[in-house]
Amino acid sequence: MNAQDIRSTFLSFFEKKKHSIVQSAPMVLKDDPTLMFVNSGMAPFKEYFLGNAEPKNKRLTDTQKCLRVSGKHNDLEEVGYDTYHHTLFEMLGNWSFGDYFKKEAIAWAWELLTEIYKIDKDILYVTVFEGSNDSDNLDMDTEAYDIWKQFISEDRILKGNKKDNFWEMGEQGPCGPCSEIHVDIRTPEEKAKVDGKDLVNMDHPQVVEIWNLVFMQYNRKANGSLDDLPNKHIDTGMGFERLCMVLQDVKSNYDTDVFKPIISEIETITDKEYNKDEKIDIAIRVISDHVRAVAFSIADGQLPSNTGAGYVIRRILRRAVRYGFTFLDKKEPFIYRLVAVLSNKMGAAFPELKVQKQLIENVIKEEETSFLRTLDQGLLLLDRIIETTKGTEVLGAKVFELKDTYGFPEDLTDLILREKGYTYNVAEFNAELEKQKSRGRESSALKSDDWTTLIDDKEQEFVGYDTLEANVKIVKYRKVTSKKDGEMYQLVFNLTPFYAEGGGQVGDKGYLKDTAGDVVYIVNTKRENNEIIHFAKSLPKQLTETFKATVDAKQRYRTECNHTATHLLHQGLREILGTHVEQKGSAVHSKYLRFDFSHFSKVTVEQLREVEDFVNRRIEGKLQLEENRNVPMDKAKEDGAMALFGEKYGDAVRTIRFGKSIELCGGTHVKNTSDIWHFKIKSEAAVASGIRRIEAITSDAVRDYYDENSKVYSEMKSLLNNAKNPKDALVKLQNENTDLKKQIEGLLKDKAKNIIGDLKDELTEINGIQFLAKKLDLDASGIKDACFKLGENKTNVFLLFATEQNEKVLLSCYISKELVLEKSLDAGKVVRELGKHIQGGGGGQPFFATAGGKNPAGIEKALSEGKSYIE
Ligand code: ATP
Ligand code: MG
Repeated sequence: MNAQDIRSTFLSFFEKKKHSIVQSAPMVLKDDPTLMFVNSGMAPFKEYFLGNAEPKNKRLTDTQKCLRVSGKHNDLEEVGYDTYHHTLFEMLGNWSFGDYFKKEAIAWAWELLTEIYKIDKDILYVTVFEGSNDSDNLDMDTEAYDIWKQFISEDRILKGNKKDNFWEMGEQGPCGPCSEIHVDIRTPEEKAKVDGKDLVNMDHPQVVEIWNLVFMQYNRKANGSLDDLPNKHIDTGMGFERLCMVLQDVKSNYDTDVFKPIISEIETITDKEYNKDEKIDIAIRVISDHVRAVAFSIADGQLPSNTGAGYVIRRILRRAVRYGFTFLDKKEPFIYRLVAVLSNKMGAAFPELKVQKQLIENVIKEEETSFLRTLDQGLLLLDRIIETTKGTEVLGAKVFELKDTYGFPEDLTDLILREKGYTYNVAEFNAELEKQKSRGRESSALKSDDWTTLIDDKEQEFVGYDTLEANVKIVKYRKVTSKKDGEMYQLVFNLTPFYAEGGGQVGDKGYLKDTAGDVVYIVNTKRENNEIIHFAKSLPKQLTETFKATVDAKQRYRTECNHTATHLLHQGLREILGTHVEQKGSAVHSKYLRFDFSHFSKVTVEQLREVEDFVNRRIEGKLQLEENRNVPMDKAKEDGAMALFGEKYGDAVRTIRFGKSIELCGGTHVKNTSDIWHFKIKSEAAVASGIRRIEAITSDAVRDYYDENSKVYSEMKSLLNNAKNPKDALVKLQNENTDLKKQIEGLLKDKAKNIIGDLKDELTEINGIQFLAKKLDLDASGIKDACFKLGENKTNVFLLFATEQNEKVLLSCYISKELVLEKSLDAGKVVRELGKHIQGGGGGQPFFATAGGKNPAGIEKALSEGKSYIE
């Protein structure tokens, strides 16, 4: 079976068992503060487990893109070194939300593996949870054990501990005991030597777990305790690439048709062969794995960047570049060339790869190029570090600086150092790294208490499309603490007019008022796991009262102007630049809007003008908002609504329409485009290869913008004595200024000549040295000139000059070359030493050096100390 068939056989097997097939959710999570990427099949369904939302069918099946590169599940460092862990992998799953439980899940898993896929029963082992004596105090899962007994001999049912047989998504959330299925694909000779059951869960590359059946029945709370979930669920996850390995009868995931085409492309490009040399093999595996993770991430809208999820993606790509650079001798970009093979191979199951192929290639190529440049620079810096190193051990702090400031990885530093016979202080390096990490932890740590529930109400209705005021009750609340925001309270209401941050639009602000008139301000609104959470600095006094909740209408209105304008802008860009333009991100604030989109060249001034006009014509056209709240997704698509990659949509969606164009959007909009008043583009620039960003403003902000500009203009005009033509006046001033500068330079040169004449007479002889220390009224080049003129044809001159300009001090030291040698003097050392007094530093050569500083008061001290030194 090829990979395609293996995948579809899984899905159709469960479809026959009354499951609905659903698409993989995007890999990058947007509204879950506990998780950056989907790391298992269950993550997108968390809200169903918690009971915050209802699936359209209690039985679902899917293949989910997962990424395990951060947080609780992080396999990054293994990838490439072993043959069965990936960063990105597909997890095949079947799901029961409060429907069937262990009996069916186990029976069906067995049926699929042994009867449909026809895996030999004698290579399978299963595990069940043995229970735990810790604070959770859990019993052994005898129920699962008894079910398995019907299918497999008892010596193949192994008992496992919490680490392997109790599944938890993260520090908090749904969890439960699990049963794993393992395969032993070793040769008969190997099997004769060691019994397979001794190798289960022992990190053996050919005795691996392929499927985990999780029996969700608890919720892990913030305080660490377990609550029973309202319903019992089934969550299963089978590693698709591992399944392919078993069914295609090979010993490594990389030998399946999922990876082979990518690997042979790498072989062609790099002229290296796979399976010849372990180091090269690791590099090839790393690259073939990482290109998938990066490509899927970009397709989902998460580009490499400097923070958060984007930074994780950047690091994955850089890891691949590094292995190519070091082990495959690739000093130019090449990973982007693998995207074509990947999109060919996987485009059918994941169309986002096909549609966005060019964008993915561009982004990867640019990242590669810039990181290779970093590597080049790092090599130069490293050379310099080696030059200044005494002995053969480089300071750990230097290696850390290379990594932290220049992005030059320590393992590469290590490799290069070793080639040159050097080492570095690893303990020191680790200490620096630890320091940095703990700084990061401190600033991002968020502590949250458990929820206190006041009313049992699962349905939280959003009424904010229609009203900005409502009477609400608090369903639950909790306190959260973070370094950034300090203490905050999170409140959930039974219904709310507050819009939660989402779809690029900021969350609403506003206030709650109780019947006594006491007010609590809501400073932000966000969505977490399908719940609308209101942030307040304090708690209301009477928590169980009914409150009047009021949204800040002005902020909401301005945000709506910007949101609707964003849609019009998107339409305009597609109309004027072409339909290759796709939204890649947006930020809709009350003061401005930002829109990122795919386009491969700069948008010209004329095109921007046209786009601006397009939007303003629609504002003048007074287009009425047409809104439909509960449209089935299929119907919306049929009507021409475009889904965005990387966005998660429910089965029923909201569509909005201004004029001809229909869009999927959950955000809030003006009722009529004329409300926007006016639209103005402020800037257009690149944010990444193939991605442009427009910032624009609407409504009052446009007037403020013009007001501000005309104010600056009037002020400048008045500064130019109200010249009739201020531009000409300014150019004239600039020209005059250039002329004056030239004149001054000439004058200073003349003055220097005179001064040098006088200075000659001031040289005094101390200990056989012609010495002079003095403050001069010359600029830097004048002083340098003076030094060299005074030193000409002499062998024993020592000069120390200071000059002061705009609160800044420059200290210069000149020593005749002969004197430098004879007495081992060093002007660089002198200025560094004396530089203390002027709060500065510098350096140079032994015969001439300068130091800049910012303390003119210290000049006298520096000069007199110079004199004592000579004396
Ligand atoms: P392992 O112990 O092998 O790392 P796991 O216990 O972390 O596996 P689960 O979290 O139970 O795995 O995930 C379910 C299934 O997903 C596993 O049975 C395996 O087939 C697959 N899987 C897990 N991690 C990876 C990975 N990094 N790459 C490929 N497949 C994986
Ligand atoms: Mg694992």
